[in-house]
Amino acid sequence: MNQCLLCDQEFIVPIMFHQIFSLTKLSPSQLCAHCLSKFEKLNKISCPICSKNTEEAKICADCQLWQEKYQGNLLKNIALYRYNNYFHDLMVAYKRYGDFELHHVLKELCQSYVRKLPADLYVPIPTSPEHQAQRKFDTVSAIFEGIVPLTPILKKKSGSKAQGEKNRQERLMSAQSFLIDKNIKIGENVNNLNIILLDDIYTTGATLYHARDKLQEGFPNAVIKSFTICR
Ligand SMILES: [Zn+2]
Ligand SMILES: [Zn+2]
Repeated sequence: MNQCLLCDQEFIVPIMFHQIFSLTKLSPSQLCAHCLSKFEKLNKISCPICSKNTEEAKICADCQLWQEKYQGNLLKNIALYRYNNYFHDLMVAYKRYGDFELHHVLKELCQSYVRKLPADLYVPIPTSPEHQAQRKFDTVSAIFEGIVPLTPILKKKSGSKAQGEKNRQERLMSAQSFLIDKNIKIGENVNNLNIILLDDIYTTGATLYHARDKLQEGFPNAVIKSFTICR
């Protein structure tokens, strides 16, 4: 029996045949089927750039803005879930109230997918030093740690407001708030790196575009994409 992290009910985890022989062990399920069903998977009718569910499979309004701003140099983002009310509540408990245990839930929602994403570097979006001090953990790294090897080469400047504290207009206009951590060594061959940025939520894309721009300064030849759990 396992106990569900979200509703405390005990439940039996069905063991899949392929898991018995699988070499890559996923962490044990901590979500019951009922709670799991409240997270809505994004469907296939979506923006080809950022995965947002749209009426027709065409580029969404956010990506149109980025297309103008970046003259077509868009950031391809893969997302798995819709940011519904249930997800919103989970993120408030995790980020605003700092309920660290909930990182297990977020891990469970994305780990089997993220494990199969090929990349040379997996770069988590960092928390600001102030928030890290407040919560005592880094919200994004805590989710992806142990799923793929992380290269925390981006740092957030202190004093920068979190995206969640800004309105839409402020987010789109916000200034670069990332730095490259020169202390992180990433080996010899830095040409043609495939880099995946990892984050929890894609809201307007502002955070990820800033992170992409900063990485591109350090690695001009890298191919950079992103993964977020929600869109
Ligand atoms: Zn449950
Ligand atoms: Zn889009």
